[in-house]
Amino acid sequence: MGLTDATCSVFDVQRFSIHDGPGIRTTVFLQGCAMRCAWCQNPEAFGHSHARTLSPQAVIDEVARDAVYYAMSGGGLTVSGGEPLLHLAPVRGLLQEAKERGLHTCVQTAGAVPEAHLAGVLDLVDLFQFDLKHMDSDRHRELTGVGTERIHANAGFLLRRGAPVHFRMPLIPGINDDGENLSAVAHFLAAHRTADLHIVPYHRLYLDKYRALGQLPRLVAPEPPTDEAIQRIVNQFQWRGVAVTIDG
Ligand code: SF4
Repeated sequence: MGLTDATCSVFDVQRFSIHDGPGIRTTVFLQGCAMRCAWCQNPEAFGHSHARTLSPQAVIDEVARDAVYYAMSGGGLTVSGGEPLLHLAPVRGLLQEAKERGLHTCVQTAGAVPEAHLAGVLDLVDLFQFDLKHMDSDRHRELTGVGTERIHANAGFLLRRGAPVHFRMPLIPGINDDGENLSAVAHFLAAHRTADLHIVPYHRLYLDKYRALGQLPRLVAPEPPTDEAIQRIVNQFQWRGVAVTIDG
């Protein structure tokens, strides 16, 4: 793979992340996504004005500055987006460079990518964080622009190949927190012999990013879930045999 093929379009680098995988991590956000989630919290993922074009080596030079914290905490690199697996060459270049420097690697994906892109990074990823945004395919399509068929097939592919996967559910009040969806998530996890779920509660801090860009998201949930509401969801999952970790 040539360097040009692997150039990364990076719109943000967040150091000292503690909710993007184990330990202390640096999260690198790559531009581009084929989905259009109504609540997308990363509008910078679309368009190119804010991105830096960097080689994988340059990105990992930046990431490796905090190697001492990763070693202390079991952390490392997380690649996010956008959808980092939309383009295989850049993400593979990044992961390869990270592995050569002994870093733990995590990839956050919404799963709406060709299976070949997952297969293309399997040997380089220590953990996939895989989104379950809504379980009903029609509703998922309304909310994100794509149905769930390929996403769920890709989840099955990763698990059959023995990849470590953490499923994550963005918890959005009034959108995916109803009993029917929670039951469907629990059934999906059970069908894949998984009993763990990470929940990422909706927040509204990202609205400042839209204001700065002079845009509006398609959907703004009325309020973030309260601690009590989150606890109710956790209890409902526990009742269905699912252990929940709150991320963020
Ligand atoms: S998958 Fe992520 S980056 Fe893409 S539109 Fe949805 S929330 Fe935004």
